[in-house]
Amino acid sequence: MKAITVVPGKPDAVRVEEVPDPAPAQGSLLVEGRLLGICGTDADIVEEGYGWLPPGQDRMVVGHESLGVVVEAPPDSGFAAGDHVVGIVRRPDPEPCPQCAVGAWDFCSNGEYTERGIKQVDGYGSALWRVEPEFAVRLDPALGDCGVLLEPASVLAKAWEQTERIFARASLRPTTALVTGAGPIGLLAALMGVQRGLEVHVQDVNAVGDKPALVRDLGATFGVGDVRASGVRPDVVIECTGHGPLVFELTEIVAPNAVVCLAGISNRGETDTVPTDDVNKKLVLENTVLFGTVNAARRHYEQAAGALARADRSWLERLITRRVPMESYADALHKEDGDIKVVVDLRA
Ligand code: BGC
Repeated sequence: MKAITVVPGKPDAVRVEEVPDPAPAQGSLLVEGRLLGICGTDADIVEEGYGWLPPGQDRMVVGHESLGVVVEAPPDSGFAAGDHVVGIVRRPDPEPCPQCAVGAWDFCSNGEYTERGIKQVDGYGSALWRVEPEFAVRLDPALGDCGVLLEPASVLAKAWEQTERIFARASLRPTTALVTGAGPIGLLAALMGVQRGLEVHVQDVNAVGDKPALVRDLGATFGVGDVRASGVRPDVVIECTGHGPLVFELTEIVAPNAVVCLAGISNRGETDTVPTDDVNKKLVLENTVLFGTVNAARRHYEQAAGALARADRSWLERLITRRVPMESYADALHKEDGDIKVVVDLRA
C-alpha cells in the first residue's frame, strides 16, 4: 500500500512509498484511508524533530487526524464494512499508570503512552490502516469529509469539558468567552462556545481569508490586534495560538473567577519580561484558573462527534480550505495565505 513516511527532524526525508499492508496486530478493523488532516504537530515532527520513531523502525507512517471507511470488521467488533471511522490518537502506557488504567490516557502520568503518527506507533497516513475497535469512533456518514475534523475537535471537546468542570467548583456560570487564534483549533473552540450559548469573541493577529466571515457566521465577533485593546472581559479564554507572552496579557483582561484554558503550543522560543508579582496578585485575588490541556480520551471524541453533528455542515466544509494528493504532503505542511485546514486525499 502507499504510505507517507517521515523521519522526525528530517524534512528532506519525507516520502510517499510502497510499504507492506498494516499488520493484523495493529487492530482487527481494516480501514481504507480517505483523508488525513495536517496540523502544526506534523510540521513539528518533520521539521523540528518532535515525535519518536516506532522501536526497531527507521521511518514512521505519519498522520494522526484520520478519516476512513471500514473494509473488514470482525462480526463481534461492533463495526461493519462501510462504517465511517476516525482512529483515536493516543494509546495507554503498558504499565498502566492509574489514569491509563481507567481510559484517561489523555492524563497519562508516566509519559509512557504512545500516539499514532507521533510517538512510537505508525500513524494513519496510508491507503489502508488498522485500528482496534476500542480505539475507533464511528461517525454519521452524513458528515462526509468533515469527519476529518473529529480529532482536532476532540481536543477542544476536552478543553471545554475541563473548563466547565473548573467552573463547577463554585457553581459559576460563564457568559463571555474569548478564543485567541482563528485557525482550525480556534474556530472549533468558537463553535463549541457558541453551542454552549456563550457570547464568543475570536481574536487573531490578522483578518486574512475566510476567518472573519467564519466567525461572524457562527454569530460570534471577530477582532484583530492586541487583545488588551479589545475591550473584551472574558469569563473563559480558550487560548489556541501557543504564543507565550499572550498568556500573560490574558491574565490582565479576564473577569473575576475566570478560567483560562491553554490549548496551543509554539516553537518560537519567545522570552518576555513578566510582572510576576502583579500577575500572581491578580490570579489570587480573583480566583483565576490558568490550565493546560492536551489530547483527548474516548468520551471527548464522542462529545466532538456530537458537536460536529449539530454544526452547520456548510460552515464545517469551509474549514477545509485545501486538499492535496499524498505526493504533496511535504509542501502542505506549509500554510498558504487563507489556509485553515489542509487535508491529504489518501486515494490520490
Ligand atoms: C494531537 C494530540 C497529541 C498532541 C501531542 C496534537 O497535535 O492532536 O492528540 O496528544 O499533539 O503529541
